[in-house]
Amino acid sequence: MSKKHIAILGSTGSIGTQTLEVISEHPDQFVVEVLTAHHNVELLIAQSRQYMPNVVVIANELLYPQLKVALSDLPIKVFAGADSITQVVAMETVDIVLTAMVGFSGLLPTINAIKHRKIIALANKETLVVAGELIQNLVSEYQTEIRPVDSEHSAIYQCLVGEFDNPIEKIYLTASGGPFRNLPLDDFAKITLEQALKHPNWNMGNKITIDSASMMNKGLEAIEAKWLFNLKPDQIDILIHPQSIVHSMVQFTDGSIKAQMGLPDMKLPIQFALTYPDRIQSSFPRMDFGLYPQLDFKAPDHQKFPAIAMAYQAMEKGGTLPCVMNAANEIAVAAFLNRQIKFIDMARVVEYTMEHATHYAKPTIETYQESDVEARRIAEAYIQNVSL
Ligand code: NDP
Ligand code: MG
Repeated sequence: MSKKHIAILGSTGSIGTQTLEVISEHPDQFVVEVLTAHHNVELLIAQSRQYMPNVVVIANELLYPQLKVALSDLPIKVFAGADSITQVVAMETVDIVLTAMVGFSGLLPTINAIKHRKIIALANKETLVVAGELIQNLVSEYQTEIRPVDSEHSAIYQCLVGEFDNPIEKIYLTASGGPFRNLPLDDFAKITLEQALKHPNWNMGNKITIDSASMMNKGLEAIEAKWLFNLKPDQIDILIHPQSIVHSMVQFTDGSIKAQMGLPDMKLPIQFALTYPDRIQSSFPRMDFGLYPQLDFKAPDHQKFPAIAMAYQAMEKGGTLPCVMNAANEIAVAAFLNRQIKFIDMARVVEYTMEHATHYAKPTIETYQESDVEARRIAEAYIQNVSL
């Protein structure tokens, strides 16, 4: 069997480093073709020396000289800038592009990779939130495929293996509920950044950790699921499942429900996205049912987590509204991480921006880009008024 050549966009992040761990465990299966990072040049240099990719790209152009010098004794091509990331995915030697950048930045590289018929292992859910319809149209046109890396979507994907065209009645996206699932609503105004950054079950990058605490992550995932599995909003249910053992479920038209289970470890969905439809050996920890005598499920509290309803509203209306919501959320999360606004202000920023941004019902890629810029401007202006 020939080895698969992988481009990892965002190799220095949580998903990126775990992807490299999976690859390290199976050197007979995978070759690292491309590594990219934003600012973390030291780790990118260390990864490059270890995995010897064909190409590395640093998005921050100011760091190019440092990267170039550090790798000058090796036959590795070195580039810088966002455009270079978009271009390198098209290289003939790349088979699979694993998108693990954060936010809107993943959109253009993903589009170019699809246009060059690369298989997309998609972690960067924001790409589908922003432009799901456009992306799926391109996937059909260029006859390639998107394999989900997000654990819930990988669970659904795994449940659908062998189901061919059997109709889905609904899906259940499970959610840990984050660190505040048991916090009374009255205490939400006092939530600190340190509390929000402590996720009970998963160790992830800062943006998705905050999205998980506000449950915006589950809203983004509902939209991601709509596009991946061609579902209507009322076919997507969210269930709080604090143990994070059932990663999601599919209910078919005969009422049968399939679930995919396991300990929470992103390496499993990453590996499955790289090897689909095959399963290969892994050293990840195994489930001990004795430690989990009980699995709990309940509906989310919409008063505590208004982001979920906002995401469903965006999904129902479509057009540029999900793109606007995503942009406002990126700005709100960044402002919360910078201690400019409070936890509960994030939802207000998103809501205000969704009410005030221009709506386009039939967007093109250019419209998405304009909407993204406009929404960021509106959200930033709003934040100036609510800043602490
Ligand atoms: P991290 O913040 O840990 O890593 C992000 C990676 O992308 C880093 O390599 C970072 O580089 C790079 N990056 C960030 N911004 C840019 C940019 N503007 N241009 C180029 N590169 C950039 O994030 P995660 O790994 O946690 O998440 C990545 C994606 O995967 C997100 O979309 C997230 O929602 C999704 N996801 C993550 C999960 C997880 O368990 N972590 C689970 C499911 C989905 P640098 O290090 O140099 O800053
Ligand atoms: Mg997820």
